Amino acid sequence: MAHTPAGDVDASAFAALGLMPELVQAVAHAGYSTPTPIQAQAIPPLLAGKDLLGIAQTGTGKTAAFSLPLLQRLATDHRPRRAKRARALVLTPTRELAIQIDDSLETYGRGLRLKHTVIFGGVGQSPQVRAMSSGVDVLVATPGRLLDLISQGHVALDAIEVFILDEADRMLDMGFIEDVKKLVARIPSERLTLLFSATMPAPIAALSRSLMRDPVRVEVTPAATTVERIFQAVMFVDKNDKNELLADCFADPALSRTLVFTRTKHGADRVTRFLEKIGVPSAAIHGNKAQGARQRALAAFSEGRVRALVATDIAARGIDVDGLTHVINFDLPNEPESYVHRIGRTARAGKDGVALSFCGQDELDYLRDIERLIRKGLPVLVDQPFHAAKVESDFRAGVRGSVKQGNRGGGGGGGGRGGNGGGGGRGRGGNGGGRSAKVGAPTGGGGRGRGRGGRR
Ligand code: AMP
Repeated sequence: MAHTPAGDVDASAFAALGLMPELVQAVAHAGYSTPTPIQAQAIPPLLAGKDLLGIAQTGTGKTAAFSLPLLQRLATDHRPRRAKRARALVLTPTRELAIQIDDSLETYGRGLRLKHTVIFGGVGQSPQVRAMSSGVDVLVATPGRLLDLISQGHVALDAIEVFILDEADRMLDMGFIEDVKKLVARIPSERLTLLFSATMPAPIAALSRSLMRDPVRVEVTPAATTVERIFQAVMFVDKNDKNELLADCFADPALSRTLVFTRTKHGADRVTRFLEKIGVPSAAIHGNKAQGARQRALAAFSEGRVRALVATDIAARGIDVDGLTHVINFDLPNEPESYVHRIGRTARAGKDGVALSFCGQDELDYLRDIERLIRKGLPVLVDQPFHAAKVESDFRAGVRGSVKQGNRGGGGGGGGRGGNGGGGGRGRGGNGGGRSAKVGAPTGGGGRGRGRGGRR
């Protein structure tokens, strides 16, 4: 029986993967007892010094999968730090993700004397320049600011031994791929390379071929793992009733830590204002918010001070909050892959989650794209006060519907009914959602018949 200090779990399964005692102790301290599939598959080849192509999204444990072997390599093959240089570079698309990876390095590296730092835009550069001045072991960075600091002569990539490209498909979506290529050109070709991506669009497959020769391929498809365990349902609703439907959902106290997605920043602000008005503590997180405001919103959400975090897809990328109870798609995403990313936020680390999607008349095509991607029809919650039978019948009849360009303000119907905050006598916020939401016919095949359990 492995001895573990009080509060720590037995993490000997990590030792069996070949990790050094300091790292095993750190994961025990973090409360991990069993490696996730990507950790079990990726750690041994990475310890053996192989390149790796990881098909996995956030939530699968991929950060530890690359951080633990990275830290072990740096700790066992000790080399002096060089000014303005790092031995390893983790490139990631968003500042939230960058900060979280940096935090993970702190957590996993607590027993080792390695230095790491993080560089991202939207804040002053001086502390970042200072942190790099005497060199670090691991640099975590977003592409734009890193290029900027390189061009100013504050950072150089000529000492990189390990290069990790995280969320490669998002880099592409966010228009960072040329920046990534510029950075790669500055890294020595004699190096270890790891590339992680949730999906493999052609440009990423090509990039991966140009970066690595014969990498070990590890695939953890969300469809086969997390997403399977998430209760998913769709609620057909008139656009103008979306606010009221949201209020009705939040009448259920089970929605204690809920991520609400809107299509636009404007929509996120509007939904946040509405939730605040009806007494649901909420915060918005999107690209127009200053870094400090985003961090405060995330902290308030993690600590349970706000029940709802309202986000756009890009802002939510990389958000990692434990114990998320629900994901609500206030607007359906126009890219079906985003649906999988969104709902993957719930059902983390072995827990079940709930994902509810509002679908208006102008989102029918998006719902079809999603069902095609996940290869199943979503159950419909029909017994909800704003069920729009016409929208549902149009969906079944194949009527086309997608949000027009120029009309992308997101749902909420421009205020309308949303404005009346409290009234309506629907028992909102009071009786904990006395009405039961029955599951109607799945929209395609294979839906699961689960009733009220959907809104735990
Ligand atoms: P990631 O996919 O790296 O963003 O990790 C998702 C979440 O899973 C994070 O909150 C980690 O702390 C957690 N996690 C990672 N590995 C494990 C593990 N082996 N056991 C339990 N939780 C884990």
